[in-house]
Amino acid sequence: METFAAPPSYAPAPDLLAGRTILVTGAGSGIGRAAALAYANHGATVLLLGRRASTLDAVYDEIEAAGGPRAGIIELDLETITEEQCVRLANELGGEFGHLDGLLHNASVLGERRPIESASYGEWQKVIQVNLNAGFLLTRCLLPLLQAAPRASVIFTSSGVGRTGRAFWGAYAVSKFATEGLVQVLASELENTSAVRVNSVNPGATNTAMRRAAYPAERPDQNPQPEDIMPTYLYLIGDDSSAHTGHSFDAQPPRG
Ligand code: NAP
Repeated sequence: METFAAPPSYAPAPDLLAGRTILVTGAGSGIGRAAALAYANHGATVLLLGRRASTLDAVYDEIEAAGGPRAGIIELDLETITEEQCVRLANELGGEFGHLDGLLHNASVLGERRPIESASYGEWQKVIQVNLNAGFLLTRCLLPLLQAAPRASVIFTSSGVGRTGRAFWGAYAVSKFATEGLVQVLASELENTSAVRVNSVNPGATNTAMRRAAYPAERPDQNPQPEDIMPTYLYLIGDDSSAHTGHSFDAQPPRG
């Protein structure tokens, strides 16, 4: 698979996202929290979607303390999200903002790490629901708002195991492969008729709760912090990447 990267030493303009409204899923912790703060720091009104009010409130407060535009909080559990909830959300956002300039699908769960042979069907369904189905549903409901923006960027989050299969990564890996497929199909559908771009990003090994759960024996500080990979997240959400759609990005150079 051909992969892309942000320009080396990419330096986003301080007002890169001024006046933009961007929704981030899984915004209460890890990479999603860092992206929400980075987007707000570059001028965006960020809509913080997650399942826990306490962590979303904390990010809201951080944005306010840093002098960023007032954020929005959307408390939703992607494991149980319904079509009706999505439609209601789109209607509410349409009424308040009229359009959406960016959508970062970041929330995911790791699920169990075991062979397909003994994988639990319940766990499989949960991982596919959160990592894939919820992203499809949200995108479909929010597409009219994205199309109402002058230019919009949708980012889906992939993984190294969503590009090359690896033993014991089960539903997580499969959900990320499917995410890459969704990006390609959607980007191709929108390419010539819409100002909505769609790309994927593989953050690479990053020091978050998910990484620490996946690699308990690893020294956490050997990996970059979420803040360190934000240049790629800023590049992809803003107009500097306007030439890209349907592409798979790496936020870090592949490890040898
Ligand atoms: P993380 O720290 O575990 O964060 C995942 C986020 O998703 C959390 O905010 C979590 O909310 C949210 N989430 C999980 N289930 C949800 C649900 N049912 N409804 C709503 N939100 C839910 O992981 P991360 O490392 O930041 O991962 C961010 C993205 O990068 C994921 O797509 C992951 O697959 C990908 N990724 C990460 C790495 C890495 O090394 N960190 C590598 C490759 C890919 P709670 O705080 O409530 O749990």
